[in-house]
Amino acid sequence: MKILQDKVAIVTGAGSGIGRSVALVYARHGAKVVVSDLDEDSGRDTVQQITHLGGDSFFVKCDVSSPEDNQALVWSTIDKYGAVHIACNNAGIGGAMAPTGMYPVDAWDKVIAVNLSGVFYGVRHQIPAMLSSGGGAIVNMASILGSVGFANSPAYVAAKHGLLGLTKNIALEYGARGIRANAVGPAFIKTPLLKDLDNQTFDWLIAKHPVGRMGEPEEVAELVLWLSSEKASFVNGSYYPVDGGYLAQ
Ligand code: NAP
Repeated sequence: MKILQDKVAIVTGAGSGIGRSVALVYARHGAKVVVSDLDEDSGRDTVQQITHLGGDSFFVKCDVSSPEDNQALVWSTIDKYGAVHIACNNAGIGGAMAPTGMYPVDAWDKVIAVNLSGVFYGVRHQIPAMLSSGGGAIVNMASILGSVGFANSPAYVAAKHGLLGLTKNIALEYGARGIRANAVGPAFIKTPLLKDLDNQTFDWLIAKHPVGRMGEPEEVAELVLWLSSEKASFVNGSYYPVDGGYLAQ
């Protein structure tokens, strides 16, 4: 039997990069996948790829920085599949780069709204739905920058550190009621999130990874799959880097 057979999973930001890889790996392992993204075309493209694999999926447009969109996402999932067992809260943005003393307030607000509040708005509705579905697993997409700083990215670093705290709280509050919550910490992964980097910065970043390369979205998705499955039944409230050794230095 497939490890996510009969499970219903929500993935935010599933139209691109890591989120798309997570949606595809969930589907390959038997889950029904609700693909959600801000961008309708890319989200529908992920659904098509899942359908092509023989999987069951549909698209819901959701801006994670909207509490109402997050509620509608969970309601649409219940409407269509009758349950929510898994949520990978993945949608995120990089945001502007500037030192903290000069960081634009609107850029700060936007990054916190998407990368931190967006996850809170999501779990706020996912948790009651999971409790009514007999339990579940939440995997929040943090970053290596959830445990170390990175100059000129104060909002991103603060949001991802905050996400680890939120994850721990969910684990404490709901572990005994059948919901596990964990966070994943990718290092730099080859996705469209890094599309604006020049070659020199790209090479500088590669050199920070002891394995001598950046990661692939599929390498993050494998960890998310495991944490989402019953194979990780005693894993709760933790943070798992997937970083080619970045944090070992
Ligand atoms: P990506 O390729 O840019 O994918 C992110 C997806 O989220 C895009 O489809 C994007 O849509 C969507 N999105 C953006 N804002 C949204 C919103 N408000 N509501 C819903 N969806 C929204 O990025 P990625 O690299 O896969 O990143 C996924 C997650 O991994 C993020 O949380 C990121 O912080 C984290 N992460 C990435 C890396 C890395 O190096 N790539 C490293 C560590 C952690 P648009 O294309 O329309 O913006």
